[in-house]
Amino acid sequence: MNSIIDRLKEVRSSIESACLQSNRSPESVQLLAVSKTKPADKIRQLYQAGQRHFGENYLQEALQKQLQLTDLSDIVWHFIGPIQSNKTRDIATHFTWVQSIDRLKIARRLNEQREQHMPPLNILIQVNIDDEQSKAGIAPDQLAEFAAELQQFPQLKLRGLMTLPAANPTAEQQRQSLTAMQRLFSELKSQYPTVDTLSMGMSNDLETAIAAGSTMVRIGTALFGARDTNKE
Ligand SMILES: *Cc1c(COP(=O)(O)O)cnc(C)c1O
Repeated sequence: MNSIIDRLKEVRSSIESACLQSNRSPESVQLLAVSKTKPADKIRQLYQAGQRHFGENYLQEALQKQLQLTDLSDIVWHFIGPIQSNKTRDIATHFTWVQSIDRLKIARRLNEQREQHMPPLNILIQVNIDDEQSKAGIAPDQLAEFAAELQQFPQLKLRGLMTLPAANPTAEQQRQSLTAMQRLFSELKSQYPTVDTLSMGMSNDLETAIAAGSTMVRIGTALFGARDTNKE
């Protein structure tokens, strides 16, 4: 038995049962395989088992793996890590989605550097839902204004929101954050027809995130095992 494929099946079935419990169709939740620190051959194995969307946090590492996987023509790369301005050109060129948008300056550069012949870059605004100092993301009360400003960029397509909730929340805190994200998402969606994606939930909170309306879960550890920390 191939363990990474077993884990893929387990994650898929957790998504399915979480969907059923919330009366949602299993197709309404997309699985993003977060492959940071993991080698290209593991990505290839998941691809061969049908997985298409992959998330990476570190640009140089991602570009190296992409070079080894150029034959997988319909693989979809998501950039999900912090973005430095000197990295925007490569991100604009080598990714289909960017989930960690929280600064206008970065958005402007991505818009300028996304080549005209390519379809617009799909972007998610990262929201700092628990108001943590250590975390990136737009404060909830700044979101409407930020989303409106992004509309000036024709090479960016606003698809929704991404959040990384607090690490060890109480059940009540977790419930409040998820509910707040759900509300922000539905407000944004009612305003912009391109918005369809709420990227929320990781290996240890996938079920609660799906119950709260997540449409994309970002799963690393549960698929690939613990991360190779000396690469982080
Ligand atoms: C690493 C990472 C994940 C995956 O987290 P796991 O707990 O390993 O599933 C998801 N989202 C972001 C933004 C990450 O950096």
